[in-house]
Amino acid sequence: MLARFVNSLPNGLSQHLTKWYFQVQARNQRGTHSYIENNQFQNMDVKILPALQDNYMYLIIDKATNMAAVVDPVEPNTVLQAVQESNVRLTTVLTTHHHWDHAGGNEALAKQMPYLDVYGADERIGALTKKVEHNNVVNFGNLLIQCLFTPCHTKGHVCYFVTSPQEGSQSVVFTGDTLFIAGCGKFFEGTADQMLHAMTILGALPNETKVYCGHEYTLSNLRFASHVDPKNEEITKKFTWAQQRRDKGLPTVPSTIGEEKKYNPFMRVKERAIMRHANSQAPVEVMKIIRHEKDVWHA
Ligand SMILES: [Zn+2]
Repeated sequence: MLARFVNSLPNGLSQHLTKWYFQVQARNQRGTHSYIENNQFQNMDVKILPALQDNYMYLIIDKATNMAAVVDPVEPNTVLQAVQESNVRLTTVLTTHHHWDHAGGNEALAKQMPYLDVYGADERIGALTKKVEHNNVVNFGNLLIQCLFTPCHTKGHVCYFVTSPQEGSQSVVFTGDTLFIAGCGKFFEGTADQMLHAMTILGALPNETKVYCGHEYTLSNLRFASHVDPKNEEITKKFTWAQQRRDKGLPTVPSTIGEEKKYNPFMRVKERAIMRHANSQAPVEVMKIIRHEKDVWHA
């Protein structure tokens, strides 16, 4: 309700209001929501940096060149500390969308590092220097960053698919507030049709692609998933695992695209179980119905 109201306001005002909201929320928290984790792959490292109440920022390091890119750096000081500790050169900001809890640190960071390239697909993103479109590919050291335009949560939402041209290496995708572990973002500025399209784009990535999303919403998403799809054992398994991780203060990212296809109802709107729950055979309708149900749902 609050979120919808804020989104109906002019951009400048809603940015101020959400900034205030998230800062109050963060102040009410003791410490961060999760521990920092470093995921090492053959050609890149991904450092998971918790921020605010339940946001994630990510530092991507190209091992060959020691160049670093940061996804959604809402807390610049945490990012700068991680950059210093990792002894890397930060050159790039990848912004998934303009909401304050993702893009709100861009200007402060760009002020300290004016040479940064700041990517995004929405004019409302602070300090934006490189506006991207669907399927643009950015050369980043020895890595490739492919921009996947996935409007719906906001009109200018982008996911970033990062690969290495080297054969057999791991690919990762940063999905912001489009795809969450076992869930999807609210349709603030878009339609069910657009989210279905976004899920099709993401679902076409290799199954082993690691998924790094914008928020730690996994447990509540899985509770909803199990309400929609109660006989699905993949949901129960993932919930038990996620609960153990959260008990230790550990992040539940990343998952993989292949895993999401097994338990995420928003990726499974063409599956019989989800259609049965929504009482519809039309994928767009199913998407619309279950998203609406989730919007008003309390476990
Ligand atoms: Zn958002």
